[in-house]
Amino acid sequence: MEINNIQICNVCMRSSEESKGTVFIKAVQNGEEIHVCTSCIPHIIHGSGDVVKSNATVAAEFQQ
Ligand SMILES: [Zn+2]
Repeated sequence: MEINNIQICNVCMRSSEESKGTVFIKAVQNGEEIHVCTSCIPHIIHGSGDVVKSNATVAAEFQQ
């Protein structure tokens, strides 16, 4: 997801602020736009969407 122009991985919660140069893939889950960093992409491709956190979950954890 994206907060204040910072991308956060919906799987591992890595942010573009803490990890410069990280590539994020924009995707859609349940109609919600999500972001996934490249190191988490295999988990989704070979696994399932179960590892993806909702934007509400990521936002709640990120604000802490
Ligand atoms: Zn990730």
